[in-house]
Amino acid sequence: MKIICIGRNYAEHAKELNNPVPAKPVVFMKPPSALLVNEKPFYYPDFTKDLHHELEVVLKICKNGKAVQPEFASGYYDEIALGIDFTARDLQDELKKKGHPWEIAKGFDNSAVVGKFVPLDKVQKDGNIEFFLKKNGEKVQHGHTRDMIFTFDQLIVYVSQYFKLLQGDLIFTGTPAGVGPVQIGDLLEGYVVTGEGKEEQLLGCEVK
Ligand code: MG
Repeated sequence: MKIICIGRNYAEHAKELNNPVPAKPVVFMKPPSALLVNEKPFYYPDFTKDLHHELEVVLKICKNGKAVQPEFASGYYDEIALGIDFTARDLQDELKKKGHPWEIAKGFDNSAVVGKFVPLDKVQKDGNIEFFLKKNGEKVQHGHTRDMIFTFDQLIVYVSQYFKLLQGDLIFTGTPAGVGPVQIGDLLEGYVVTGEGKEEQLLGCEVK
């Protein structure tokens, strides 16, 4: 199982971190040991003083595929979850300045929090998924997947040119604006708005 992540896929988020809006998807990976599931707590690592939440829609790959053609891309995922791409922003900024890879700032243990999966058609309405993150009960990120620079299908096509997609792989599809620091004791909760307009919690994570 691999965890593929997309950076800067929402223009407003690219702007808030002073990054250019990309012409091609920005791709990085987290190792399987980054995965944190079943609402287990996340322990704040001691190598950062600026840990950020990034709430993202996560696709689960449902069949193997290499160099997927655009007309077939939507057949490679049928369930989504919400995930948090935990980021050591201070480390990432240092690495970015040097032009070094991001892995230690992004792929550390338990940095890929994934909530429960639901069928895509339950939460997608008119091609859009509305989702938001509450930190200690207050809404801090609010996204619509229609604002993505690269659609789910475009990401499948792009990524599968380089990495063979295997059933069970996960794709973090990028975070909307509103990323920010978390502290020990924070409670993070991710919600989607269902097709019937109801708010459903898909993710919960306590920072310890
Ligand atoms: Mg991210």
